[in-house]
Amino acid sequence: MSDLPKDLREKLKEKFIITGLKVAKRLESSDGTKKILFRLQDANLIEAVIIPSKERVTGCVSTQVGCKFACRFCASGQGRFKRNLTFAEIIGEVLYLKKEALPGKLTHLVFMGTGEPLDNYAEVMKAVRIINSPSAFNIGARRITISTSGIIPGIQKLSGEGLQIELSVSLHAADEKLRSELMPVNKIYPLKELINTCKKYSLDTNRQVTLEYILIKGVNSELQHAQDLRKLLSGFPLAKINLIPSNAIKELNIEPPGRPEVLLFKEYLVKNGLNVTLRRERGGDIEAACGQLRLKYAEK
Ligand code: SAH
Repeated sequence: MSDLPKDLREKLKEKFIITGLKVAKRLESSDGTKKILFRLQDANLIEAVIIPSKERVTGCVSTQVGCKFACRFCASGQGRFKRNLTFAEIIGEVLYLKKEALPGKLTHLVFMGTGEPLDNYAEVMKAVRIINSPSAFNIGARRITISTSGIIPGIQKLSGEGLQIELSVSLHAADEKLRSELMPVNKIYPLKELINTCKKYSLDTNRQVTLEYILIKGVNSELQHAQDLRKLLSGFPLAKINLIPSNAIKELNIEPPGRPEVLLFKEYLVKNGLNVTLRRERGGDIEAACGQLRLKYAEK
């Protein structure tokens, strides 16, 4: 910045380092979804995704290098956890995605890449405030989504932030035993307490909570499971269920059920008065869809 006085430039040079993230690889899907692999300063690699559609452009960012939570259906949890990202690194992802999004402009931001946002609470919240700030990215709070595997203390803390951001909770099973099998985090923060926490979050913030439910063939997608889900959510009218046919992860033996089974599951919930949406997956051909980020392209 040669327009700054020289002595100030010298001082800045002494105290600060300015670096961006380096792009190690960029892949584009046939549906327009792009996956970017970034190399961090310490040579760790992370992934972010950009998902354009007719009416919006959504960026999806990682919050940790690797993940501790080892969900059975998720490729991101297979790599070892290495470290939290700093808010600056998260913002680095957003900056790059914003550039990529032009001219459609980045309209939505989801914390659904690798890692557990509420396990890196302070840095993620700093990033959220910058993303939301009118003098920075100016993305409205309602267009920012934090997705969690169900870290109860994090959800409780979030409800006191006074932000209108969207909260998504990865549910994936309506029964304690099955959820513990699929998501080991359930042994620390069990389903019943998690649902009570979500109810309270809804009441305290006056916001809907989205419950993500991925449908996995032979595991959680039969009528019995839909009935369990209905029972679990009776008395929680502000819950919104987002059904997602799982992405196939071969080495984990995960595949989606057939279309008729998916529709049957959905119709049962709709008939019983629940608020249900069925999500279309994007970016599957470049392994940029949910649960597919796995750093296959790591060079070392
Ligand atoms: N740790 C956070 C955010 C990262 S995962 C969380 O658990 O929510 C983002 C979403 O991808 C979660 O809802 C997760 O359950 C989902 N996901 C993981 N593996 C998947 C798969 N194989 N198919 C579809 N969605 C998957």
